[in-house]
Amino acid sequence: MTKHIPMKHDVLQTNKTYAEQNRTRFYDENTFTINLISSPGSGKTSVLEKTIKNLKTIMNIGVIEGDVATDLDAARIAKHNVKAVQINTHGACHLDAKMVAGVLSLFPLKEIDLMVIENVGNLVCPAAFDLGEHVNVALLSTTEGADKVVKYPTVFENADVVLLNKIDLLPYTGFDLKQFRDDVHQLNPDAPIFELSAHSGEGIGRWTKWLKESWVSQTQAKDFDWT
Ligand code: MG
Ligand code: ZN
Repeated sequence: MTKHIPMKHDVLQTNKTYAEQNRTRFYDENTFTINLISSPGSGKTSVLEKTIKNLKTIMNIGVIEGDVATDLDAARIAKHNVKAVQINTHGACHLDAKMVAGVLSLFPLKEIDLMVIENVGNLVCPAAFDLGEHVNVALLSTTEGADKVVKYPTVFENADVVLLNKIDLLPYTGFDLKQFRDDVHQLNPDAPIFELSAHSGEGIGRWTKWLKESWVSQTQAKDFDWT
């Protein structure tokens, strides 16, 4: 057991170095970046498709799709006429900052306002790997059960914003909305929660409004720093 502790520390230190390089790059190129984390089947890609539809007229969007195998999700995203690049981790259950660094040259970063990194579906280790993003997004769906918040606390503690998808299925899932809100608030009092449905479109506008405002304030903060 004790051997694993320094090894893990080393991996995370290396990751941190790459993450800082990515962050500097995103800053220099004025690319606002989000890291989208959830378990498989929670509807990350569907939420992302709706997000793109709402924002692509005002922002130039790029997408990095992380998956263990296949390029199915990148193909779905590319249909919306945004640049999408797939990273296959070949078994690894999370993206790390070096993998992200390796695909950045495939994007015209100067022209990209918003970069979405869709992490590998997993609520455990993606939370430990900083990718250099500005905003961490944790997504849960009502079909998974409200207990996932306390079972996988790190994802929700580290999140800047929490999305609850499949809100249209609430009457059928027995999902405890109050417990969910209380547990998220307990772990992370500052993170706004957006309850939405990629299927019905409900709540998508509130989430994309928040995202747009975060992008604007990030850009303005940068302009302010420079003057
Ligand atoms: Mg997906
Ligand atoms: Zn992993």
